[in-house]
Amino acid sequence: MAYQHHIDKDRCKGCGLCVIVCPKNVLEMSSEVSAKGYFPAFQARPEDCIYCAMCCTMCPDVAITITEDVQEAAAQN
Ligand code: SF4
Ligand code: SF4
Repeated sequence: MAYQHHIDKDRCKGCGLCVIVCPKNVLEMSSEVSAKGYFPAFQARPEDCIYCAMCCTMCPDVAITITEDVQEAAAQN
């Protein structure tokens, strides 16, 4: 099963909680400021993500979503 991990830069307030909670050290804070004036989190090492959803659960601004990659799932059937 393939998943997509997405961080909404416009929702992220740059608190860094997701970076701390990630068990695989996937996330880092960007050095580029967002439109809202924050430094958003991003997946620095997406290949290490196990889609455990800890970061989604922790994010106080609900900026992180994990969705099933339907196209890839369909291709595997
Ligand atoms: S889903 Fe889990 S492994 Fe992937 S970035 Fe979030 S906390 Fe880290
Ligand atoms: S926990 Fe949410 S708001 Fe905080 S840095 Fe991560 S994505 Fe941004």
